[in-house]
Amino acid sequence: MALAAHCQRRAGAGRPAASSPRPLPAVAPRPVVLAAAAAAAAAPAAPSSSSVPASKLIDGKGIADTIRSEIAAEVAAMKAETGLTPGLAVVLVGARKDSETYVRSKKKACAEVGFDSFGTDLPADVSEEELLKHISEKRILDAISIDKDVDGFHPLNIGCLAMRGRDPLFVPCTPKGCIELLERLHVPIAGRKACVIGRSNIVGMPAALLLQRRDATVTMVHSKTPDAARICAEADIVIAACGVTEMVKGEWIKPGAVVIDVGINAKDDPTAKKGYRLVGDVDFEAAGARASLITPVPGGVGPMTIAMLLQNTLESARRAAQGIKAPAH
Ligand code: NAP
Repeated sequence: MALAAHCQRRAGAGRPAASSPRPLPAVAPRPVVLAAAAAAAAAPAAPSSSSVPASKLIDGKGIADTIRSEIAAEVAAMKAETGLTPGLAVVLVGARKDSETYVRSKKKACAEVGFDSFGTDLPADVSEEELLKHISEKRILDAISIDKDVDGFHPLNIGCLAMRGRDPLFVPCTPKGCIELLERLHVPIAGRKACVIGRSNIVGMPAALLLQRRDATVTMVHSKTPDAARICAEADIVIAACGVTEMVKGEWIKPGAVVIDVGINAKDDPTAKKGYRLVGDVDFEAAGARASLITPVPGGVGPMTIAMLLQNTLESARRAAQGIKAPAH
């Protein structure tokens, strides 16, 4: 889990403007459970042996690179103007390889755009099981300041996302990245039918809310939904986030639909160096034959998740620099 560490004032950097807000302390690291996801941050834009034409591929990595450049330019301007540097605190509990990879990717991404990043070093003899006896994910999420909730998981942010007439301070990064892809590619959303497969707190549910806020007619499919294939086949936009390897088949896709595949699954492949390769929740080849646009895995949504985390962190730093605090709820 990541949270903004706000701005660290650098001695001698920038103008000592009288109007500059007072520096905020870096957040103390809190032990939390990192959502295991998005291990594939840096990846090629498309599977090399794919028969899906390049014109249909949504190049998440390329779009994420563009966003990172935009962020780097804004960070440079912020530093020059205020002497403040955005920071991101990344807290990892346990030693899951995919989580470690994700944390490394976050730190690298921070360095590339000019953020400071902070991490925790947990004692080697503390097991995840032992730690989990003392903490609960719910309590940790509740404890994070809403102003620094750059993952967008705080109940207040999710509540505001769900309510008409309210705006969350932060939107969860993966669903935000899915919508950013659609918007940057000018995919019409208003009035379209959308199907979101999966209803998790971190992907499916906020993705459905974001689509609904943009006036799509949204159907959510989950593990108890009968006839998911028929429902999905009516959709103009499909966001697949069920964590089931290649569950969404070609015939689930309406011809011309836009398909965003959030899934990251390891599939056995004796021809691959590691003995497996990463695939999504969508049968890429079959769905790609019918879709008008489709994200590859890897190289689609994964890079966008980190780009959105950087965007949320910059936004948090901007608000802190202007002395803006979330209104009391
Ligand atoms: P999750 O918490 O396990 O939720 C999975 C959701 O899919 C649940 O709502 C579940 O339904 C539903 N589901 C499971 N089996 C289903 C089935 N057979 N038919 C229909 N729905 C089914 O997973 P998550 O955290 O949302 O992640 C989903 C996928 O996205 C995973 O592959 C994960 O690795 C990936 N991910 C990728 C990124 C990225 O940056 N690319 C980020 C986060 C996650 P119930 O609610 O009924 O159980």
